[in-house]
Amino acid sequence: MKSISTVVEKMKPSGIRKFFDLASTMDDVISLGVGEPDFSTPWHICQAAMASMADGKTHYTANRGLLELRQEIATFHKEHYQQSYDPQTEIVVTVGGSEAIDISMRALLNPGDEVIVMDPNYVAYEPAVALAGGVCVPIVLTKENEFKLKPEDLKAAISPKTKAMIINYPSNPTGGVMTHEDYAKLVPILKESGIFVVSDEIYAELSFDQEFASLSQFDEVRDQIIVINGFSKAFAMTGWRLGYILANAPLSKAITKIHQYVIMSASVASQYAAIEALKNGYPDVVMMREEYNHRRNLLVNRLNAMGLHTNMPHGTFYVFADIRKTGLNSETFCSQLLEKEHVACVPGNAFGPHGEGFIRISYAYSLNHIKEACVRIEQFLKDIDYQKE
Ligand code: PMP
Repeated sequence: MKSISTVVEKMKPSGIRKFFDLASTMDDVISLGVGEPDFSTPWHICQAAMASMADGKTHYTANRGLLELRQEIATFHKEHYQQSYDPQTEIVVTVGGSEAIDISMRALLNPGDEVIVMDPNYVAYEPAVALAGGVCVPIVLTKENEFKLKPEDLKAAISPKTKAMIINYPSNPTGGVMTHEDYAKLVPILKESGIFVVSDEIYAELSFDQEFASLSQFDEVRDQIIVINGFSKAFAMTGWRLGYILANAPLSKAITKIHQYVIMSASVASQYAAIEALKNGYPDVVMMREEYNHRRNLLVNRLNAMGLHTNMPHGTFYVFADIRKTGLNSETFCSQLLEKEHVACVPGNAFGPHGEGFIRISYAYSLNHIKEACVRIEQFLKDIDYQKE
């Protein structure tokens, strides 16, 4: 028998799933691991999907998605983020941000093209680059620099083979953000090199403390940017599998070519739900963001008081806690914490070699759940005789 694709053979299983498979075999586990909202989708959004089905809206839609949905997406992005995209030619509705990442890479890359990725980064980027025949070139992000992308590092990473870069702010797993001023320093470098940027903005609505910014707001480079966003995080709609891509007309056309063959069109009921989400769901987003903000403040204060010095994350629902002073590596820390105190977190090295020394803790859980987890983490630190200075 012939063998399977070597790219697939070499692909590592996700370091996130591994821990959760183990945790699911234990009783009494408090998990702070999974990256999805604990809220259910607001009921009026579910009702809109049900009403669409009752109304016989059970067919394929246009490849790019319902025009009414694309119009709502365009209006939302204009109002909230000053991003201008034409609903007819510059928006493609996808099966989550996940499909959007995959088809963007496939639309951009030729075999051997280099793609700059951050280390640490979200787990889906490197497999997407590899499956599209690309080669990842990492840029190391540090806690000391709040996990921001620095212009000098970008400049040094660009070679004649660079085709694109993937960024994700607010960032999973670090909670880091980039401001408008931070991006302004990258713009001349991007303009000069002409590389594309896939900007995964799925946590845009989960920005705390400062306004969300995007490279697509800069006219000089707007046509080089492919924006990825979706409904999973902001509207608590992970199970509906709905995301989208904003990109100029030629890029959108190329991306739609792939989308039409592999997907045809995203789920129609989900698209009707998403129209309702954009029209009437913003108060729900605000309510959830306030609740996450509350939890974030509690968790970060507790971790710092225990001596796990942790940056205040300005976005997402993750804290990237610094465990370097415990002397344990991130896998050992997480497996011992799970074994001894039945708390599940994700080892930082699941997000790249420079995630080592950190653990990702999600606060998309109730306050009581987070408080109990903190009591257990504190007990664990005592057990390993951790001396906070
Ligand atoms: N990008 C990032 C950074 C994510 O954290 C996630 C979900 N964990 C996704 C994309 C994919 O989300 P979805 O496919 O549910 O839209």
